[in-house]
Amino acid sequence: AGHFSRRLQTLPPPATIEMARRARALRAEGQEIISLALGEPDFATPPAVVEAAHQAALNGQTKYPPVDGTPALKAAVARKFGRENNLIYQPSEIMVSNGGKQVIFNAFMATLNEGDEVVVPVPYWVSYPLIASMFGAAPVYARCHEEDGFRLKAAELSRVMTSRTRWVVLNFPNNPTGAVCSRQDMEEIAEVLRRYPDVWILSDEIYEHLVFDGMQSYSIAAVAPDLKERVVTLNGVSKAYAMTGWRVGFAGGPQALIAAMSAVQGNATSGVCAIAQAAAAAALDGPADLVQHMAKTYSRRRTMVVEALRQIPGVTCAMPEGAFYAYPGIAGCLGRKTAAGRLLETDRDFAIALLEEAHVATVPGSAFGLAPYLRLSCATSEVILEDACSRIREFVKNCH
Ligand code: PLP
Repeated sequence: AGHFSRRLQTLPPPATIEMARRARALRAEGQEIISLALGEPDFATPPAVVEAAHQAALNGQTKYPPVDGTPALKAAVARKFGRENNLIYQPSEIMVSNGGKQVIFNAFMATLNEGDEVVVPVPYWVSYPLIASMFGAAPVYARCHEEDGFRLKAAELSRVMTSRTRWVVLNFPNNPTGAVCSRQDMEEIAEVLRRYPDVWILSDEIYEHLVFDGMQSYSIAAVAPDLKERVVTLNGVSKAYAMTGWRVGFAGGPQALIAAMSAVQGNATSGVCAIAQAAAAAALDGPADLVQHMAKTYSRRRTMVVEALRQIPGVTCAMPEGAFYAYPGIAGCLGRKTAAGRLLETDRDFAIALLEEAHVATVPGSAFGLAPYLRLSCATSEVILEDACSRIREFVKNCH
């Protein structure tokens, strides 16, 4: 066998991959599996966006793009930040990456050294701690409690900050809980961050448009403009415009950091597919009612799923304020045995049994750092969601 890097050893196989592998095996046996495991919109990319890509390809936008993004997309991103976030960024303060994920990769690679710490609110999207670990930094976890609507509280942030903290990650609306921080929460968080003037702040706002019940999502750089010089405001077209496969994300941030991130990206990928960038610019400049329509649909599905889950004895479920997941607690189901005789000791046991016995794929909360919960994606049709919820109800009913 060949040699592999030490860095690779910091990458554990994610729980999502294990669930996907088990789901595939069952499908191969001819079972019909409902998958609520993936965080991917079921909508098609808007046709006008696809047409913009078509035109870009015909018009010869087929050469190497500038590493940090095409001028046209960077201009559209600057307009978006101004219009939607009240944030003014110059072109030199903006970069385009292969998804929001590469923004994080670039930012962490450009700044982290062995022994540094990255503060991540729990529960979290798995990539923050995984990417931080790749660069030798230690993730440090700030707990967000269900009683607080899974919002990050300033006191908890304050508790985990140290002299080694290099980054604080904020992700509201949150994956997996859907929590949205209020303006007041953000102001209190900013107050803590002011005490640590050397710490960078990653504000992942990729779910910003998917907020419900009149909630509003806040950008920390707009709430606390004095912090803007340390904030990377991350966003992208994947979730808002149903464009996960186009791989376009972007960030606004201080010029020196954006330049360092571009240097990383230049070596990794030479930038983002020019055709996809033309499509993303069309999406950002396109009509806002498409996004509104999708947000309304997710809101309706969320309410339906949460209400169905709350009917199940042993299951609790907070009402998510944003994103497109439900995060039910299953503590009341643990210690029981399934119809097939499996003992449910953890949320992983529950998720595996649910998949194998009721054919519903979910992700256990432990994968996001907070157990015992499940994450269900509501980015699928109401008929499928109803079927999934009744399968979960039957599954739990048959546990004893
Ligand atoms: N941030 C969060 C919280 C996410 O859930 C995701 C995708 O799952 C991303 C960022 C990155 O998305 P993309 O790389 O498709 O832009």
